[in-house]
Amino acid sequence: MRPRAVVAGGAGFIGYTFVSRLLQEDFDVVIVDNLATGTRHNVNELLCEDRCEFYERDICEPVEISGPIDYVVNLACPASPVDFSRIPVEIMRTCSEGTYHLLELALHKGAEFLQASTSEVYGDPEVHPQREDYTGNVNISGPRAVYDEGKRYAEVLTLTYHRTLDVPVHIARIFNTYGPRMRPDDGRVVSNFCVQALTGQPLTVYGDGNQTRCFCYVEDLTEGLFRFMTSQYTGPFNIGSPEEITMNELAQRVLEVTGSSSAIEQRPLLHPDDPKRRRPAVERVNEALGWQPVTDLTTGLRQTLAWFAQAVEE
Ligand code: UDP
Repeated sequence: MRPRAVVAGGAGFIGYTFVSRLLQEDFDVVIVDNLATGTRHNVNELLCEDRCEFYERDICEPVEISGPIDYVVNLACPASPVDFSRIPVEIMRTCSEGTYHLLELALHKGAEFLQASTSEVYGDPEVHPQREDYTGNVNISGPRAVYDEGKRYAEVLTLTYHRTLDVPVHIARIFNTYGPRMRPDDGRVVSNFCVQALTGQPLTVYGDGNQTRCFCYVEDLTEGLFRFMTSQYTGPFNIGSPEEITMNELAQRVLEVTGSSSAIEQRPLLHPDDPKRRRPAVERVNEALGWQPVTDLTTGLRQTLAWFAQAVEE
């Protein structure tokens, strides 16, 4: 029998790519998504495959799905910093009640559970690069805390189901990810810079632009998630690119790749506790799963820009 996976958040940017990967691997897939940030367009494309089903549901309510399930994957949560102030209560409920309902589903079905955690569990890190045993520096009173603490809670709940109820779990701390299917208006730096460069608007660098991130191409990320989900490892594992770049350098790179003559403008930071440096230590995931990203930033940006060019036109 083919393995069957429930993917919460399967209509989103990472979710779409992950579901496509599962379908390639001959899985049956049930997408559960409330379309808060995922799109009907993504779902319709995935449903072309008759091994894929869609339940339009909010995981904040109990999730009931008939038939056997081998894997429950939790990719459901708005993850762009602009969402943190736009829908903070929804984010906290998705991380807490939503993760609980999916863990209950995994428990009752005897399924394995993959939790998408985040580099945000490290907050504005004082240790660089961030290893999985670093406990983080989250400002509990800051605007990012709804997501950071929500995801930290979700990790604890996931590990608790593992330790006390024997649910096999995998916890992936996903670092910055980019690629086709990002929403042009999601407010993230790659989306903003690409759309701005393509439409001749100034590229908006927040703060002094010296803050760093590492950007992983979405297909590399989903390869890592797939290997992790089908492994015996619990983690947590960082999954991300170790190639670090400042936002000023990223703006330059986007201009080079597009050939755009857009200016670069400085704007105030969106959140005062915007992490200054972020880079995953990837030794653990590399050793355990033999995984590392293979797509360099320029190549990945070309693919992403092709997607945005089409999205901007529509
Ligand atoms: N950023 C920027 N210009 C933008 C959007 C974001 O300079 O138009 C910066 C933001 O302040 C942060 C970095 O880019 O330092 C990454 O932001 P993003 O929202 O993509 O994700 P984060 O890593 O903060 O979750």
